[in-house]
Amino acid sequence: MTIKLSGAPVCVVGAGIMGAGIAQVAAQAGHAVRLFDTREGAAAAAKARMAGALDALVAKGRMSADAVQALLARITPIATLQEAAGVALVVEAIVENLDAKRALFAQLEGLCDASTVLATNTSSISVTAIAGGLQHPGRLVGMHFFNPVPLMKLVEVVSGLQTEPAVAEALFELSAAWGKTPVHAKSTPGFIVNRIARPYYAETLALLLEQAATPAVLDACLRGAGFRMGPCELMDLIGHDTNFAVTNSVYAANFFDKRYMPSLLQAEMVAGGLLGRKSGRGFYSYRDGKPENAGLSVAVTEAPATAREVTVHGEGPIADHLEQAATAALAPQGWGPARLRNSGWTGLEVDGARLMLTDGRTATELAADLQRSDIAVFDRPFSTAPGTAVAVAVAESCPAAWRTQAHAWLAALGFAPLPMADTPGLVVARTVGMLINEGADAVLQGVCTPEGADAAMKLGLNYPAGPFEFLARWSVAEVTALIDTLDTHYRGERYRLSPWLRRRALTTKNA
Ligand code: NAD
Repeated sequence: MTIKLSGAPVCVVGAGIMGAGIAQVAAQAGHAVRLFDTREGAAAAAKARMAGALDALVAKGRMSADAVQALLARITPIATLQEAAGVALVVEAIVENLDAKRALFAQLEGLCDASTVLATNTSSISVTAIAGGLQHPGRLVGMHFFNPVPLMKLVEVVSGLQTEPAVAEALFELSAAWGKTPVHAKSTPGFIVNRIARPYYAETLALLLEQAATPAVLDACLRGAGFRMGPCELMDLIGHDTNFAVTNSVYAANFFDKRYMPSLLQAEMVAGGLLGRKSGRGFYSYRDGKPENAGLSVAVTEAPATAREVTVHGEGPIADHLEQAATAALAPQGWGPARLRNSGWTGLEVDGARLMLTDGRTATELAADLQRSDIAVFDRPFSTAPGTAVAVAVAESCPAAWRTQAHAWLAALGFAPLPMADTPGLVVARTVGMLINEGADAVLQGVCTPEGADAAMKLGLNYPAGPFEFLARWSVAEVTALIDTLDTHYRGERYRLSPWLRRRALTTKNA
């Protein structure tokens, strides 16, 4: 069965933030759109607001006045749902409540013929549950847009257990025709984006709870890895109430799997009304929309001392960069570093003291294993641009001199060292590792493909790379080892390794 929706009349139900955006995008693509809302006058008001926003685009020369007029002429506010009869597609964007959505679709089934496709823009309710009880549940599908709809490219096309593949395919094609990038998803808690993103917040909240680093340090480290906003500033922007509610809904929908457990710290912030920007205080305090306490203290106080022997250990691009940078740093003294490729670790050795790329173990654990105290670990850099923020920690017993020298060497190698408590996986390695792990589980469960996960995270949340693109820049064996180490360290369900990664790690090893 092929379903053709291009150019067909569409009805959007719910004229709030999302419904208005969906109506605009559909009308822009040439569809006649009927817009309905139970609140009297809401559909007409939404159209008037849209006209205002589009006029601003005309003033900026981004759209012609004729195009705006034609677009608006295609949108008809309707006063009763009965006027939806005869459309080929209904997109629902009403209140996020299962009973309300079910009642609406039941009513629509009585009005529309059996071939009408029914789409829901739900962000958290099971598509299977919304379709349950319908006479033709196969024609109901999730069409999850992101806010603001006219700007955000991603649409998660969400299939419930009974959604007919042809219906999902038709909405996939339609979304593409509307200028969006659709990604197929299976109806599971959080779908793709809201699920895979959980560790971005959870790891930072866990580190804050352990007092491992300040919000400013955590944000700087993740911005250094290419994320547009650090997790603390992002949670402050989203609002802790909203972010906490999404985490809670994913947690509850997974039958309270501890892997998704919300944070005590965030619960306290919500309870105390520290909601972020909108309340004036979250992790940061805001005055005139600007954070007041986001400053960083710089750790570098001296240059690397003269050494007798400097060796770069390890293979791969990070070790190559370290070698290049150490060579440049030592050149004025007329000598260069040695290179040992097969020593089993990556980093720098200076007269026996070590600055080691994190493999998940703390510096203190490494010091115990190696039986020496002058051990520092640094976070995984995903950029080698000069001044990239990189977290660094030292062993409990580390002498003060090596602590200072480890910072000095990191700075000499081109990074901005940010000291933090000696915590497994530091900041970036642990966060990105867990994003990869969540993506791997989503793929294992057939929620999406690796390509779908990458596209969704980049387009839905502006991530610099998707989880599988990060994995390609790292290695399955190293990510697996890091998460296993976190699992051993914390002994909880959060760091349960995805079987998808375990299988890959074994296959790669045996290949
Ligand atoms: P909103 O509160 O701005 O708008 C909802 C509108 O639906 C209101 O105008 C309300 O009067 C109307 N409404 C409520 N019950 C109705 C009914 N039975 N029939 C017709 N109209 C009804 O909400 P929103 O932010 O636009 O969200 C709408 C849906 O989109 C929700 O399911 C939400 O989870 C989902 N969503 C929201 C976002 C977001 O960022 N806001 C993003 C993705 C998905």
